Amino acid sequence: MLRAMTKTASAPRTKAVKRAQLRTRGRMSRFISHDVAVDLGTANTLVAIDGRGVVINEPSVVATNKRTKQVVAIGRDAKLMVGRTPKSIIAMQPLVDGVVSDYEVTEYMLRSFVDRLHRVHRVLFQRPMMIVGLPCGVTEVEKRAVEEAAKSSGARKVYLIQEPIAAAIGTGVDVLGEKGSMIVDIGGGTTEIAVIANGVPVITKSVRIAGDEINDAIRQHVREEYGLQIGERTAEDIKTTIGVVGTNHTSRSMSVRGRNVLTGLPQEIEVTGDMIKGTISKQLRPIIEAVKGVLDETPPELISDIMQDGIHLAGGGSLITGIDRLLRSESHIDVNVPKNALTAVVEGAAIALANPAMYRQSLIYTE
Ligand code: ADP
Ligand code: MG
Repeated sequence: MLRAMTKTASAPRTKAVKRAQLRTRGRMSRFISHDVAVDLGTANTLVAIDGRGVVINEPSVVATNKRTKQVVAIGRDAKLMVGRTPKSIIAMQPLVDGVVSDYEVTEYMLRSFVDRLHRVHRVLFQRPMMIVGLPCGVTEVEKRAVEEAAKSSGARKVYLIQEPIAAAIGTGVDVLGEKGSMIVDIGGGTTEIAVIANGVPVITKSVRIAGDEINDAIRQHVREEYGLQIGERTAEDIKTTIGVVGTNHTSRSMSVRGRNVLTGLPQEIEVTGDMIKGTISKQLRPIIEAVKGVLDETPPELISDIMQDGIHLAGGGSLITGIDRLLRSESHIDVNVPKNALTAVVEGAAIALANPAMYRQSLIYTE
């Protein structure tokens, strides 16, 4: 089932959204849906099918043999190869900063995920309707690339939806009313900030600082301060396991293995949350400043709405412990972290696809 609702109180429209969700579920109990929602994220690709919720959630990574150009692994298996492959194999992310950077590889990845729906999830459909999330501010060419990739992966009809809108719908925000809301989606490559009203983004801002930059900064900090060279995935593990910002949180610790930069020998050290707190906070600074900048540009009526509801976070980056408090203390506005931060975009897109008439102003129709 699509789990989308979290905290948000806005009576009549929320009811309408709930009704739409129930309709989605009701529909599913009666017949197999042909609709597929896709979140083609820089870090993770998610696929949701109406009535079954998220069925695919894999890193957006494809490993290919450099010489033969053959794909050797996709998704989780390919990510496991990062930093571990022989020189002949390259593990690459076909999406950079939220947009398709390698069309062929993106299409291949999407097609193989759709094939998996047939094989593993036994979804018996032909040429499904598909909705794909897009970052705000992409060019026509970039839009076309996503649309083409979706079509070549087997979609009959493709809708596009701007990711912050999908994220907002997915976290239970009422996007259709005239009331303004703010969503901050901290992904792998970019952070997307949007103020939404009447189903469309009123102000958007994209910052090229997100989870990946935090990993890089942790890696650099551990090398410079503790003389230990660690891999990309280890840096990400540190962030997701013990990453913390702000005060009032107990610092946890974990053992980290790498290579001592002086001796060149393997070494294991204990890394604590306190040791990397400053590094993570520093990376979050441009995001916080961008949120403040957007608030500064937001018309007063909408600010008043946002103050009432609070800022809604989404994306994997919003799971860093203490990020909500930090942003609250900087913006003087409440901050909500949804339970479905990593799946909000695909779940919201699925809700919109199930009710295209209701969400018509939020959808981008393609030929
Ligand atoms: P995208 O939409 O760009 O694919 P996601 O919303 O899937 O990105 O988020 C991916 C990012 O979130 C990665 O940088 C990942 O390291 C980070 N992330 C995932 N879980 C956590 C966590 N528990 N704490 C901190 N960061 C996390
Ligand atoms: Mg995303």
